[in-house]
Amino acid sequence: MPPRVARVALDLPLPGFFDYLPGPAQADDLGRRVRVMVGKRERVGLLLDWADSSEIDPSKLRPLLDVDRSLPPLPEEIRVLLQFCAAYYHAPIGPITLAALPTALRRWEFTRLRPDPLWQLTAAGAAALPQQLAPRAIAQRRLATQLHAGQARESALATQAPRARALLADWARRGWLEQPVPVPAPASLPPVLNTSQAQAIEAIVGALGTYTPFLLHGVTGSGKTEVYLGALDATLQRGLQTLVMVPEIGLSPQIAARISARFPGASLSLLHSGLAEGERLAHWQAALDGHADIVVGTRLAVFTPLPRLGLILVDEEHDAAYAQQEGLRYSARDVAVWRARTTGVPVVLGSATPSLESWANATTGRYRRLDLPQRARAVAPLDMQRIDLRQTPPIEGLAAPAWQALDDNLGRGGQSLIFLNRRGYAPVLLCHACGWGADCPRCASRLTLHLKAGRLRCHHCGLESRPPATCPDCGNPDLRPLGQGTQRLEAALAARFPGARLARADRDALSRKHSWETLATQIHDGAIDLIVGTQLIAKGHDFPRLDLVIVANADGALYSQDFRAEETLFAQLLQVSGRAGRADHPGRVLVQTHFPQHRLYAHLFDQDYPGLAATLLAERRALDLPPISRQARLSAEAPEADAALAWLHAARQLAPATPEVRIFDPVPALMPRRAGRWRAQLVVQSFSRPRLHAFLDEWDARLRTEQRRTVRWVLEVDPPFM
Ligand code: ADP
Ligand code: ZN
Ligand code: ZN
Repeated sequence: MPPRVARVALDLPLPGFFDYLPGPAQADDLGRRVRVMVGKRERVGLLLDWADSSEIDPSKLRPLLDVDRSLPPLPEEIRVLLQFCAAYYHAPIGPITLAALPTALRRWEFTRLRPDPLWQLTAAGAAALPQQLAPRAIAQRRLATQLHAGQARESALATQAPRARALLADWARRGWLEQPVPVPAPASLPPVLNTSQAQAIEAIVGALGTYTPFLLHGVTGSGKTEVYLGALDATLQRGLQTLVMVPEIGLSPQIAARISARFPGASLSLLHSGLAEGERLAHWQAALDGHADIVVGTRLAVFTPLPRLGLILVDEEHDAAYAQQEGLRYSARDVAVWRARTTGVPVVLGSATPSLESWANATTGRYRRLDLPQRARAVAPLDMQRIDLRQTPPIEGLAAPAWQALDDNLGRGGQSLIFLNRRGYAPVLLCHACGWGADCPRCASRLTLHLKAGRLRCHHCGLESRPPATCPDCGNPDLRPLGQGTQRLEAALAARFPGARLARADRDALSRKHSWETLATQIHDGAIDLIVGTQLIAKGHDFPRLDLVIVANADGALYSQDFRAEETLFAQLLQVSGRAGRADHPGRVLVQTHFPQHRLYAHLFDQDYPGLAATLLAERRALDLPPISRQARLSAEAPEADAALAWLHAARQLAPATPEVRIFDPVPALMPRRAGRWRAQLVVQSFSRPRLHAFLDEWDARLRTEQRRTVRWVLEVDPPFM
């Protein structure tokens, strides 16, 4: 019997599927794009399921208008994964499904990226052209001349003559043109692996074909990437596809370059939001068709269809960037693990500072731990020192010993990095006469002074204004910037070391034109002496010339209300300090702090992640916090003060009574007001994931009946920070 009801995912914020009559669709069209009417509008959806009946009156069901069979259907593996995510994250299936497709496919008519072959003349072509062309075929002769000069891309030739593409196709048919067979560059040779690396690779390769989660814990520079490459080698040889996840676009060129240098013959696809629409579609399609051997991508890439998937690698698995914060709130790392499980392939989570979630899983044996305890190349141990800011107060952001260290290192021709996780010139603009400070009128936060741009900017809502000439409260013209931002530090360094080659690496300094890639290359090549940077620079880069790292001020996170702040800070500081040091002389790390006795610094100086992790896990256990328990968070925001809190109190009343699920009181958010909206949150927690999800299923359904016009709310499962 033919299926009777087509269940379609549409990009509409409603839970569940939309039902249609099959129309032209066949049973095997599951996973294909369909065109449907919603109200009076045409929309593009994805056919996800068949049903025997619908809750909607059959006479009211409309037929599917059209089915797109020009692309292979989305494989069942991905359809199952999407439905799992919708259920787990309590999110509507439609928007998730459509977000997982390349944007080009969200429109019915889409243009494929035109192939752009490289052409060269064959011997026959060289003899025939341009002799066989009519003397007056000027444009055609021009093409022939160009081809005689050497190989050329079709796109370049197409600019030379009208209908060039058709002509080239014709010449190719006559045997006059051919596409040269690319000669792969010689492969880069792997280093002689150390025992830990070899054992790690052996373990991963031995697990191919079965779901096995690995936590690859390796100190910075321990050669984790070599382990990935070793595992990739095995999957390539077996004809399997590998998905390589990176937390940020910025890290994809680097790892992609290392992969293609090692495996020049393999086909590699990049998938991230920085790609042009057509390119992204082409890469996605290469993955779906099975042509791509390796896919390197950020968050959404976790949903890439890969019919021959054999291995998943998640680099820097602790990175909060894996957590999507808008639309569907999901953790790409966690989805990667589920995908590995449902597909039955190994997954490798790699980090020098694993998330406590993954670390806890490794200690209970749910994940297999692989350790790389040593740096891969001989490096003298780091020389780490604290600078007690209470005793040596900073001048222009740096204490005297820090200035001295910079001076010495410059004199030696060394490269130094100053880490300051605060962009802009100064975080506060203050009136010293009356105490007025420039606040964001829309947020519970100060405006940051950006001196170069001559603007005050809110880093939370993006509001911009011109700095006032005088104090708006008392008229005092002497407004002073207070505190240090990266721009101010950059200015102080430029004044103090006028001959030094200085660079700032933060979100404001980098743009499309001046990309992180360019800067990273300059740093790598030693074209920069001094770098001022935010966490942007802390991530996964290998800078062989860096020998001094100064942490300007990281104290802010030590006493944060977010229980994950210390874990995050430790990861950042270990990453930054791990950048220092070469084989010939030890790297130096100076940490400026008001709290030199803080345990975080003790663990940092010992490069002791396991020690800190044990301490933090014991605390989480004492307080029943994740990863010991599971959390979900209901966040609400509203333009009127207290409306969000009031709504959460009402929401609390609607909570079903479920044993073992603890519901906390609604409280204002850590940032209680943002972009003109008041924000509050309510956390629920349980030791039992099934219980928590049973609770959330019911609560979520009840909440949907309690919509308030001005209150926006969102339910997040496993919220990554407070
Ligand atoms: P990680 O990813 O852990 O930071 P990488 O794989 O980037 O480390 O390795 C750090 C540096 O050490 C790289 O330059 C890499 O080429 C080199 N390296 C890795 N393994 C070895 C090895 N076994 N012998 C020599 N050099 C190695
Ligand atoms: Zn004033
Ligand atoms: Zn603001």
